[in-house]
Amino acid sequence: MENPWEIAQKQFDNAAEKLGLQEWLRLKLREPRRVLIVSVPVRMDDGSLQVFTGYRSQHNTARGPAKGGIRYHPDVTLDEVVALSMWMTWKCAVVNVPFGGGKGGIRCNPKTMSVGEIERMTRRYTAEIFDIIGPEKDIPAPDVNTDAQVMAWIMDTYSVFSGRNVPGVVTGKPLDIGGSAGRDEATGRGVYYTILNYFKYKKESIEGKTITIQGFGNVGQHAATLLEKDGFKIIGVSDSTGAIYNPAGLNINELKEIKTKTKKVTDYKDAEKLPRDEILFEKADILIPSALEAAITKDNADKIKARVICEAANGPITIDADSILREKGITVIPDILASAGGVTVSYFEWLQNIQSFYWTHQQVIEKLEAIMNTAFDSVVHLAEEKKVTLREAALMLAILRVAESSRCRGLYP
Ligand code: NAD
Repeated sequence: MENPWEIAQKQFDNAAEKLGLQEWLRLKLREPRRVLIVSVPVRMDDGSLQVFTGYRSQHNTARGPAKGGIRYHPDVTLDEVVALSMWMTWKCAVVNVPFGGGKGGIRCNPKTMSVGEIERMTRRYTAEIFDIIGPEKDIPAPDVNTDAQVMAWIMDTYSVFSGRNVPGVVTGKPLDIGGSAGRDEATGRGVYYTILNYFKYKKESIEGKTITIQGFGNVGQHAATLLEKDGFKIIGVSDSTGAIYNPAGLNINELKEIKTKTKKVTDYKDAEKLPRDEILFEKADILIPSALEAAITKDNADKIKARVICEAANGPITIDADSILREKGITVIPDILASAGGVTVSYFEWLQNIQSFYWTHQQVIEKLEAIMNTAFDSVVHLAEEKKVTLREAALMLAILRVAESSRCRGLYP
C-alpha cells in the first residue's frame, strides 16, 4: 500500500502548485506543526505489563484548535496519524469550521483486550498527551475502534487532572455528559446531503437512482437509511464478511436489524450473495465506499462501473486509482467534502459544551444541512472556475483558507 503521508503530501504539492501558493506557505503547510510520541504502559489483567506506543499529531492550528479522532489499531503508524491530521486540516477548512487538523492513535489490538485494559490504556494515554490537548488547543474524537465510552474516559481523566469538569476536551461523548443530539448519524447524514446536492447540481431527478455501499457500519447504515427514504434504490451492500445484491432494491430497515443481530449483511435473505469486493464493480449510479482506506487501487479501478463515487470513508481511493477513474469519466466526490458531516456536528458539540446550552436534534440537522450545502456549492464553483476535479477543488479551497489564515498571522518570530 502507498504510504499515507506520501499520498497526503503529494496531494498537497499538486494543489499548491495549481494555486501558485507562495513558497514559504508551501513549506510550512506541508509539514505537521507538532507530533507527540508517547509510551503507554498498561498493567494487563494477568498482572503483566505491556507498553504501547501512542501518537498525537497536530498538523495545523492557524484557524483554531486542532481537531481529529483517536484510532486504536494494530496498523497505526506515525505516518498514518500525521497524514490523517493533515486531511483533518483540509476537511475542517472545506466546511469552514474554526478548527485545525489533528489525529491520534495507539498501536494496539483492542479486539484482544478486556474493557478494563482498554480503559487503563486510554486513561494513561490521556495523561501522557494532557499538555497538548484541551478545548482551546486540540479536541480529540472517536475514530476506528474508539467510541463514546472511550471519549467519556478521556473527558473524565482530563477533568480529574484539571480539577474541574471539561466536557469540551473531546467530542463524540455520550449524551449524558455533554454529547450532541445527531452526532451519531452526522457523517452518514452529511453523505446524504452531499448526494442530494450533486443531483440538484446536475439537474437530475433522484427517483430510482441506484446505489451500492461498501461497508455497513455507522456511516454506511445512516447514509443508506436516509437515501432510501428519499427514493434512492440501495441495490448492493457489503461488510467485512461478504456482499449482497438485489437490483430491485434492499430493505434497509430489515438489513440493519439483521446486521445488528448476526453482524453479517450476508444473512439477509432476499438478495444474491456476492464475493465481498464484487460490490465495488456492480453497475450503479453511485458507489459509496464507507469502509477503510485504499479500497479502490490501480489494480481494481478499471473494473468500476458506477457513474459517481461518493467517498464516505477517509482516503478510499489511491492516487493512481484516482487518475484511472478520471480517465474513465467517473466523478469522485471527495472525502474532505462528503464525510465532513461528523466533524461539523463535533464543532456543534464543542460549541454547546462551551455555552452549556444544548440544541434539539432538529436544530442540529438544520445547521448541518446549511453547512454541507454551502461547502458543496463552494467546491463546485471553484471546480468550474478553475476547470479542475471536485477533489482538486475541495483541496484548493481548503488550502486557500488555511494559507490565508497563516498569511495574516505571519511567521513567528
Ligand atoms: P464502522 O466500524 O462503524 O463500520 C465500518 C464497516 O466497514 C463495517 O460494516 C465493516 O464490516 C466494514 N468493512 C471493513 N472492511 C471491509 C471491507 N474490506 N469490505 C467491506 N466492508 C468492510 O466505521 P464507520 O464509523 O462507519 O467509518 C467508516 C469509514 O468512514 C472510515 O473510513 C472512517 O474513517 C470514515 N469516517 C467516519 C466518520 C464517523 O463519524 N464515524 C467520520 C468521517 C469519516
